[in-house]
Amino acid sequence: MKKTYHVDENGYYGSFGGAYIPEMLFPNTEELRTQYLDIMGSESFKKEFDALLKDYVGRPTPLYFAKRLSALYNTKIYLKREDLCHTGAHKVNNTIGQILMAKRLGKTRIIAETGAGQHGVATATVCALMGMECVVYMGAVDIKRQAPNVARMKMLGATVRAAESGSKTLKDATNEAIRDWINNPVNTHYIIGSVVGPHPYPDMVARFQSVISKEIKSQLLEKEGRENPDHVVACVGGGSNAAGAYYHFLDTPQVNIIAVEAAGKGIHTGESAATSALGKEGIIHGSKTLLMQTKDGQITEPYSISAGLDYPGVGPMHAHLFESKRAEFISVTDQDAMAAGLLVSKMEGIIPAIETSHAFAIFESRPFGKEEVVVVNLSGRGDKDLNTYIDYFKL
Ligand SMILES: *Cc1c(COP(=O)(O)O)cnc(C)c1O
Repeated sequence: MKKTYHVDENGYYGSFGGAYIPEMLFPNTEELRTQYLDIMGSESFKKEFDALLKDYVGRPTPLYFAKRLSALYNTKIYLKREDLCHTGAHKVNNTIGQILMAKRLGKTRIIAETGAGQHGVATATVCALMGMECVVYMGAVDIKRQAPNVARMKMLGATVRAAESGSKTLKDATNEAIRDWINNPVNTHYIIGSVVGPHPYPDMVARFQSVISKEIKSQLLEKEGRENPDHVVACVGGGSNAAGAYYHFLDTPQVNIIAVEAAGKGIHTGESAATSALGKEGIIHGSKTLLMQTKDGQITEPYSISAGLDYPGVGPMHAHLFESKRAEFISVTDQDAMAAGLLVSKMEGIIPAIETSHAFAIFESRPFGKEEVVVVNLSGRGDKDLNTYIDYFKL
C-alpha cells in the first residue's frame, strides 16, 4: 500500500486519532461517521458549499507574492490570504461546511464551544446565515477576557452560555458542549472548530479546509509554472488552517511541510503552548494525540500571547506528522512573533493575526534558498489583536 498521511479507515493517523468518547455519545458520532463522506461527495452538497465559499466567504482568496519580504529574506515568499475571508480568518470555511452537513443530517440546532471566541463568531455567523438556533459554550473567565467576540456572537443572534466549572476556560466549555450533545442527540449538531475531537471530526474539518491547498496548487501553477511549492508554512493551534494548507501536499514528499507552534515565554518557562516539544501521548477532546500534561496525566494549562494558539494539544494529523518526521516543527516565542507581526505590517501593508505572526517569525532564523518557493498560510487578519499589538509596542 502507498504510504499516506491521511486518515485510515479506522479514523487513525498512524497511532493517533480514533474516538475515545463516553458510550452515550456513540450514536451521535456514529451518525456522522457513517454519513459524512457520502454527504460531502454528493453533487448537491458540493454545489451549495462551493457557491457559498465563492459568494459569501469571498473565495478563492488571493495567493500574493510578497515582494519586499522576499527581497529581505532572499527567497520567494507567497502569502495565501485567508485573512481576506469573510469574518477575517479561515475558520468560516469549516463552519460553512459543517452547517450544510447539519442540514443534510436533519438537524435544527447548533452547539459549539469556544476559547478566544473566534470559532464562536464563525459558528454564530453561519447560524445567522441559515436561520438556525445557536448555543455557544464559553468559559466564564474567557467571557470576561474576550468581550468583543461575545458581543459579536450576541449580535449575530447566538446564545452564549458560561461554563462555571474547573478553570472556567476552554476545556470546561468543551465538557458542557459534550453534555448538551448527549442530551440532544436527535436535533443538534456540534460544530467543532479545528482538526481535533473524535473521528470523523479531524478528517471532516481537514477536508473542509483543504480548499486552501487546492487553490494554492492552481494559483502557483499560474504564477510559477508548477503546482508544488518547496515549502508550505502554517501556524498550529489545533491545526485546522495548517491541515488545509498542507492537505493536497501531504503525500507529495518533495513539498516540505513546516508547522509553527507557540513557545509563549519560552519552551522551558512553564508558560508555553509548544505541544510537539513538550507533549506526550494522551487523550483530549475524544482523540488520542500529543498533549501537554503533568506526570500523572493532568492537562497542563497552556500559555501564548495569541489566543488562537493557546491550546494544550494538537490534532492527531499533526501528532503523526511530527512523530513520523514528515513535517518540520518550529516553535516561536511571543516576543519573536510580535516583532514579525510588526515587520510584516510595515513591509507589506498587511496586519496579520498574532497567530499568523508566529509563522512569519521563522524567516529570522530558518534560511531558505533564493529560488525556493515558500507559501505562508496567512490564517487571519490582525484587527482583533490591535489592542495587544498597541499595548505591547506602546504604539
Ligand atoms: C483560530 C485561529 C488559529 C488557530 O487555529 P487552527 O485550528 O490551528 O488553525 C490560527 N490563526 C487564526 C487567525 C485563528 O483565528
